[in-house]
Amino acid sequence: HKRIGEQADLFHFQSEAPGMVFWHPKGWYAYQAMIRYVRDYYVDNGYQEINTPMLIDCTLWEKSGHWDKFQENMFGVESDKRHYAIKPMNCPGHIQVFNDNLKSYRDLPYRLAEFGTCHRYEPSGTLQGLMRLRAFVQDDGHIFCSEDQIESEVMAFIDHALAVYKHFGFDDVMIRLSTRPEKRVGTDAIWDHSEAVLEKILNDSKLDWELAEGEGAFYGPKLEFNLKDSLSRIWQCGTVQLDFSMPERLGASYINQAGEKTIPVMLHRAILGSLERFFGIVVENTGGWLPLWMVETQVVVSGITDKHLPYCDTILELLKAAGVRARIDARSEKIGYKIREHTLARVPYLIIIGDQEVENKTISVRGGKGEKYDGISCEEFISMILGK
Ligand code: ZN
Repeated sequence: HKRIGEQADLFHFQSEAPGMVFWHPKGWYAYQAMIRYVRDYYVDNGYQEINTPMLIDCTLWEKSGHWDKFQENMFGVESDKRHYAIKPMNCPGHIQVFNDNLKSYRDLPYRLAEFGTCHRYEPSGTLQGLMRLRAFVQDDGHIFCSEDQIESEVMAFIDHALAVYKHFGFDDVMIRLSTRPEKRVGTDAIWDHSEAVLEKILNDSKLDWELAEGEGAFYGPKLEFNLKDSLSRIWQCGTVQLDFSMPERLGASYINQAGEKTIPVMLHRAILGSLERFFGIVVENTGGWLPLWMVETQVVVSGITDKHLPYCDTILELLKAAGVRARIDARSEKIGYKIREHTLARVPYLIIIGDQEVENKTISVRGGKGEKYDGISCEEFISMILGK
């Protein structure tokens, strides 16, 4: 994906910012398309999008337990004689939003989502392209709910995660259920119950899953979603985790139906995980031929010679009117050279205009994956690619 990132001019790295991405216009377009897609889902499914500070005083990280467990992976900043940590995850911030005003059972499930920028110190030797970074954004979300809402929330999450993976071209998804580790918080009764809930959901769903005994988080069991790519490599992406600990540590509560103060269960959930990493996986899986909806320039129109340019303009107008993102390559290079260059840059379609096309009011198309359509109408082409 690093090589493709260079060829298609998507992003680059440089030594002054190790483990961090310089996104170029085409890469950033694709990245924003992923965000738009995920955001649409939030709106449709009762999530409220928020944003929380990147720097938070270390005292909060001490309370949340991160300072104790995660300190060596956290970047810090000192200012005004105060110590701040750059957030390595978004959970404590989301609890602050939940806590800011009194909640009742009627507010639950309370679903918060954030495209949260996280920084984690990783040793420089372990950094690896988009796959392992020091700065990344998660499609992070937290659901605050009662115990009897866990099942329906997790089921809705699984359904959606599978639909999202399919949308990005991954049909082969394996799920792992990670259960109680040796070092943990919470009573055995809570663990018995929450593991049983997750196992029942998996069995009811008839999905393939495997048990990862002892690999749960210290605060609760979790499901992990692994994707198999076109080369049969396995990538871990999404997760949903039950948490019976952090809400209590950070003082989250709601008033239940009996009027009593109750601690909510917190579900940590992400579908893509790190957006940067997921983008890298999509690039690896597609060889850089991103889904059309993620591509900034979907079509380049080119004439064989300059005299074909007026007709190129006509075609460009038709494409634009139909919502296709297209531009003209008016350089006087040989057509073979242009095809090679745009193919390397992963432009999905190249429209070529010569004498015949002008005369018959048609177009000829070369697709990046070897597709070839000669003498078709522009309308035909548009209806072929729309909705892809
Ligand atoms: Zn979380």
